[in-house]
Amino acid sequence: MTKTLENPIVSGNVRNFLNHGPKKLFIGGRWVPSQSEKTFTTVDPATGEALATVYEAEAADVEAAVQAARKALEGPWSRISPAERARLLWKLSDLIEKHADELSQLESLDTGKPLTETSTFDVPFTVDHFRYFAGWATKLTGETLPVSFPGDYLAYTRREPVGVVGAIVPWNFPLMIASWKLAPALACGNTVVLKPSELTPLTAIRLGELMQEADIPPGVVNIVPGYGRTAGAALTGHPEVNKITFTGSTAVGREIVRASADSFKRVTLELGGKSPNIVFPDADIDAVAGGIMMSIFFNQGEVCCAGSRLYLHKQIYDKVLSAVVDRAKAIRQGVGIDPGTQMGPLVSEQHMNRVLGYIENGIQEGAKVLAGAERGLQAGYFVKPTVLEARDDMTVAKEEIFGPVLAVLPFEDLSDVIRRANATEYGLAAGIWSKDVKKAIQVAHSLKAGTVWVNGYSLLDPTSPWGGFKQSGVGREMGQYALEHFTEVKSVWVNLT
Ligand code: NAD
Repeated sequence: MTKTLENPIVSGNVRNFLNHGPKKLFIGGRWVPSQSEKTFTTVDPATGEALATVYEAEAADVEAAVQAARKALEGPWSRISPAERARLLWKLSDLIEKHADELSQLESLDTGKPLTETSTFDVPFTVDHFRYFAGWATKLTGETLPVSFPGDYLAYTRREPVGVVGAIVPWNFPLMIASWKLAPALACGNTVVLKPSELTPLTAIRLGELMQEADIPPGVVNIVPGYGRTAGAALTGHPEVNKITFTGSTAVGREIVRASADSFKRVTLELGGKSPNIVFPDADIDAVAGGIMMSIFFNQGEVCCAGSRLYLHKQIYDKVLSAVVDRAKAIRQGVGIDPGTQMGPLVSEQHMNRVLGYIENGIQEGAKVLAGAERGLQAGYFVKPTVLEARDDMTVAKEEIFGPVLAVLPFEDLSDVIRRANATEYGLAAGIWSKDVKKAIQVAHSLKAGTVWVNGYSLLDPTSPWGGFKQSGVGREMGQYALEHFTEVKSVWVNLT
């Protein structure tokens, strides 16, 4: 037995799931091996040990999944009423909630992140997401149009599903981000082929089992774990996939747009970020220190909206910085499922080395190390929470590191900090800390970012649209705005003369 499974915290259900042979693909309502019978291994990043073997989907499997999704789209799923779709989504959310402990453990083991986060954020937010979009299934309406065309016409619009949706998700919030795509897609009547990340496929597979239990008809959701360059590329290049909804890096986002161009797929992209977190001297300093920790060290900093550029006003620079450094040094790293763990390992050895490389590069470019900047526990892929005093022109202050690395940057002048905060190709999120609401709103309106938080950070809700300006993305997830991207609008004219 591996060290992971020896841990008494691992529940019987999770143990059974992991021990129960190679994980299969979910196609047309059946669990099948990949056609090549090739497998890959998913690893516990806290120990480097294998967690489970998973059949690897490639182009032929994606083809079968797309055909199953198309058949379901044109078959029973198109005849199911909106109320029935809502009921199925509610049933699924109840099942996810019922299995929350198991899913939280599985997510924590596969990604490395603390159980305290998966059980309070990833899984409950997934449940909320399915429930929120369940409500929309019965509220997708069109309009009657006051057309002036000579004659007598009834002209109206209806919202129809886009069709077969290819959903490609990353490894940092595997279950939750899958729900951001599945919930609106299903509420709007689409069918889906979901490709989880090759690094973290397990909760998506377990979700497939719960979908079966919820009686979601065969083929409505198909799950094809595999690599991006094979399974992912087969999905984006497939002529019968009508839409791609992608969350991942900006570089892969670009490839997806290119691959989708031939068939003019609808594409929505949630991409990377290098978000500024700006602290003014009149901020509530106690609240600020906690907010900064949350903004950069939550989920090991593997967060698209991480507040990785901290702009501190010179008047409070030393005070806030020393609070941040003290707190960063006190963070307890460990195995995600252990109750005392505040920060887990990074997702893979390769990613750990990438993050360490950025830190090394920062030091070479003159950044001053105030905390961390080295590996943590040697058993897994741990990097210590790192605080660097940096300059805007350093690579650590410009590029997305996607790890627990904070670049701290002083400022004095309001317009200067707005200019510097906006001087990035990204535009996902931003934080502002000030008791002066008028100033905070003025700054919020000046920042080029899809979401701005004032006196808080990483606040998310299914009602609040999520997405990026500039190279942080195209389109919006969550909220009513997501419905635009999962439906086509049809105009119907009826000649009444
Ligand atoms: P990634 O781009 O490497 O991979 C994301 C997914 O795309 C994976 O499933 C991968 O297998 C697949 N993929 C890779 N190459 C592909 C290709 N050529 N064709 C089709 N699919 C392909 O990203 P990652 O490392 O998994 O995740 C980290 C990135 O995701 C970061 O840049 C982060 O900012 C971003 N992210 C953004 C958001 C958001 O909401 N904006 C949320 C989470 C993560």
